[in-house]
Amino acid sequence: MMVVFSSMLLIAAGLVIALRASEAGRLWAFGHVVASAAGLALAASAAAGTQHLATLGAGAYIIGWLLNYRGVRVYYSLAAHPVPLAVAAVSVLALMVTMAGRADGATVVLGIAYGSMALISLATLAVLLRASPGRRSIGAPLVLAASLVHLVTQLAGLSKVLRPGAGAGTTTLFFASPDGWVWALAPLVAVLLGLFGFTVMAMEQIIARNESGARMDALTGLLNRGALERAALGLVSRWQRDGLPLSCLVIDIDYFKQVNDTFGHHAGDAVLREVAHALDNSRRASDAAGRYGGEEFCILCPHTDEQQATALANRILRKVRAIPLPGGEGYASVSIGVSQLRGGPGSKEALWRALFADADRALYHAKQHGRDRYVLASAMLGILPAQMPVQMPAVPEEQMMEPAA
Ligand code: GH3
Ligand code: MG
Ligand code: MG
Repeated sequence: MMVVFSSMLLIAAGLVIALRASEAGRLWAFGHVVASAAGLALAASAAAGTQHLATLGAGAYIIGWLLNYRGVRVYYSLAAHPVPLAVAAVSVLALMVTMAGRADGATVVLGIAYGSMALISLATLAVLLRASPGRRSIGAPLVLAASLVHLVTQLAGLSKVLRPGAGAGTTTLFFASPDGWVWALAPLVAVLLGLFGFTVMAMEQIIARNESGARMDALTGLLNRGALERAALGLVSRWQRDGLPLSCLVIDIDYFKQVNDTFGHHAGDAVLREVAHALDNSRRASDAAGRYGGEEFCILCPHTDEQQATALANRILRKVRAIPLPGGEGYASVSIGVSQLRGGPGSKEALWRALFADADRALYHAKQHGRDRYVLASAMLGILPAQMPVQMPAVPEEQMMEPAA
């Protein structure tokens, strides 16, 4: 047993460092460090027959499991309740130390330990069962299975302690118990399964965070150019399959260089963030919004034709016009080019390039015609009547198109 717990202690200590990027991972690894140290103390006390060491070990074991439980709550972004948990732990420990001095101290301490750990396992199970369906995870079912085995063995241990005539002596948890290998082995296997499951969960979280960081533009929080291009190719593939319209808005901040030149790059960055926020709040959840580069953005709207996309363009124009420029120098504005994917068979890369180029050309026209407006690419291609393309900025709010459903 000493060898098993020493190895687990070393592995868990290594995991504290390996999983440091995840708060839940740190708590789990540290919880297993404490539980392994507790296991060592319990195994040593079983060999030496010292009740004080056994009480200390049982108390530390409970603290280890509480840390694991807290890690599960942190992982699922639930309130971690550090103060109530600490108060509960201190109260249980105080009770155990007080009881340990009695003639039947070993049995009472064992009963408190099994009871507390069964409660913690039950609470962990409840969190995992409630949270897991929403998340695809390989680690969570392992931890769930481990918690279930813990709960069963702890309840069995509790019922054994509560049986009349349960013997005195030194507190020994399952693994040090002389009652047969199943009771010794089951919790150990569950601990290892849990440790593996927790490690996988923490790694999954770290990988997911890194992936989302790699897709995101650090300044604005929108998709970065690479992620936007990947989303675009996916949407073009979908368009090729289902034939439903796909539209694209290319958006460029007007006279942005002046903001930078007059108020500095930091003030410029703040305006960029606010414009990005306005775009993000204007789009539908199914639209993909990204920063294409500099002060240029792009929004892709699946299941949306060019006319429907003008509702989004109007919404953006209106929201950006409400963003004050630094130094009380008026308000921001953007120019927008709007295009709809047309054309026959071709590679999705070529179709995406054509869609973007059409919107970019329309954007150029919007700049040429005075900025703070949108232009439809189809109007420039002669698909729509000539009077359709330009949305003048002075349109009163009540005459603007309402957002698409
Ligand atoms: P126009 O209305 O024709 O678009 O004029 P403009 O001044 O916006 O256009 P221009 O392309 O001349 O200027 C774009 C400016 O955007 C130049 C560059 O310094 C600034 N810029 C690009 N990326 C960033 C950024 O990340 N932060 C800040 N603050 N400025 C940026
Ligand atoms: Mg610009
Ligand atoms: Mg530009």
